[in-house]
Order: sequence, then C-alpha cells, then structure tokens
Amino acid sequence: MPASDRLYRTDAIILRRSDFGEADRLLTVFTPQHGKLRLLAKGVRKITSRKAGHVELFMLTDMLVARGRTWDIVSQAEVVEAYPPLRTDLQKTGWAYYLAELVDRFTEEHDPNQPLFELLAFTLARLGHTDDPFIVLRYFELHLLGLTGYQPQLHFCLTCETPIQPVENNYFTLSGGGVLCPEHGHALSHAEPIPLPVLKVLRFLQTEPWERVAGLQLTPTTRQQVETLLLDYITFVLERNLKSVAFIKKLRRST
Ligand SMILES: [Zn+2]
Repeated sequence: MPASDRLYRTDAIILRRSDFGEADRLLTVFTPQHGKLRLLAKGVRKITSRKAGHVELFMLTDMLVARGRTWDIVSQAEVVEAYPPLRTDLQKTGWAYYLAELVDRFTEEHDPNQPLFELLAFTLARLGHTDDPFIVLRYFELHLLGLTGYQPQLHFCLTCETPIQPVENNYFTLSGGGVLCPEHGHALSHAEPIPLPVLKVLRFLQTEPWERVAGLQLTPTTRQQVETLLLDYITFVLERNLKSVAFIKKLRRST
C-alpha cells in the first residue's frame, strides 16, 4: 500500500478521551473533512511521550493519522490552538465540556460537517475571551441545531405557513420544532406560548452574523426564557433520537 493510502493528515479538536490499556488513550475527535472519529493515541500516558501535550481535551491539533483495523492511530500530533483559558479556569473548562458533549451527541462518525467544525473552533476561542458566556453558548446551540438538521422554524407557522407576526401570543412546539401562529398554537395542546422578546432574540441569533450578535444586551427574564427554551428543545431532540436509535437496533436484532 502506498504511504498516502495508509496515512492522512487532519485538523482535529479533542472532544473526549479515555484511558486504554497500559499507556494509551482512546480519543473522540471532530475533524473538518472526516467528521467525528475515534482514534487511538499510543503511549501518550508515558512521561516521555512526545505527543502527550498535544492531544489534551479541547485542543485543536494537526494530526497525521495511520489507518488501523479497529481504530485509526495518531502517528504525529502538533497542537495548533490550545485555548489556554479553557484549561486554567474551571468554569470555562465546564463550558468547553458542554460544547464537546453536544457535538459528540449530535454527530455520527465519518459524517463530515466543516461548518460545524468551524463553529466549534470559533466558540472555544470565544469562550476563552469572555466572562459571560450566555450569548456565546446560545449562538452555538442555535447554529449547532441548524447545522445538524434541527433548525427550529421561527418565521412561519408550522401549520398554515403564514409569516409569524411580531406579537405576544405566538406559540412554540418542541415536537414540531418551531413556531405557530396564535390561532394554530392555541389549538395545539402541547404548544407553549412564546414571549415576544424570546422569539425576537432567537430569530436574531439565528439570522445575524456573530459580530452583530456579540453585543446583545438582554433582561434577566429574557435570558432565562431563551436558555430554558433552547435547553428543552435540545433535550427533546436528543431523547427522541436516542429512542429511535435504540428502536432500530432492536428491530435489527429481531430480524
Ligand atoms: Zn397558523
């Protein structure tokens, strides 16, 4: 086999890692061209390892990877961006864990999503430079949803498809993944009223570039409501998916 078939070079952000064997680690990484991958990093728990400082959690690393039977193997690793504040500030470490967990849960292996890779890299950098992560995290959540096929519909009623007017009595439905006009929302028992400031903020986050979004100032009530709605929706999507995955696996076993 020529060397080019056995080896590939990629940027990779370390999402997760676990000890493996005596001195190895199994890494879950996110890459621009290959999507999520599980890679074996051999010997990185030895003090003498040259790779060790380059495959820490949340680092953006330039890797040379060798194809392997079960897992591909990290052959060389050179850190590109270490995001130092995410390592020294425990609270920021927690936010980074949250981002990594979301990317891990919302993606499948070998499913490339370059915009999501870029969103993750930008968001890790932004978290390093802020003490108030609210807008950074909500922007990430909304765009992650959009880039993985779960963009909430915020502009047209899910039932009658007429444009949603900026009024107080519109509704949001988790199972429908979007908004309903007052008439159709009222008729649906599981739809919840969506306060106008919340609708406006979500639309703004969804459609405007980061540079305009970054300076957004919100009241504590609106912040709380936006955060709750997004968390409820993310939880709903993930739970529905987990169930469907379990169901498909069960079907496969019984055939
Ligand atoms: Zn309607």
